[in-house]
Amino acid sequence: MESENYHDIDGNPVTLEKLCRTEPGWACSRIRHMRKQLEAQLAPAATAEQCTWKLEDEDLELWDTGCGEAWVFSDGGPQDSGVKYCPACGKPVAITAPQQGGE
Ligand SMILES: [Zn+2]
Repeated sequence: MESENYHDIDGNPVTLEKLCRTEPGWACSRIRHMRKQLEAQLAPAATAEQCTWKLEDEDLELWDTGCGEAWVFSDGGPQDSGVKYCPACGKPVAITAPQQGGE
């Protein structure tokens, strides 16, 4: 299996496997770095791509969007109005359940 090419201190080509034996500290940090890069590539970009809406004022039907906007609904909330995507940022809307009591 051909991977990246490494060279030892004399400029001779060495494998990562050999470096693991001769320079375990260096190889470990190198492997950690490569794994991080790989994980970043594999992570689906859409996981956190949501706009979380929170009911700010129940009487006004005033909603705080996760992206810093505020929306007022004249007839019911975003669910009743069929809002699926945030009009401000375009991301799918995630509605947080109103907190019961405590305030
Ligand atoms: Zn938004």
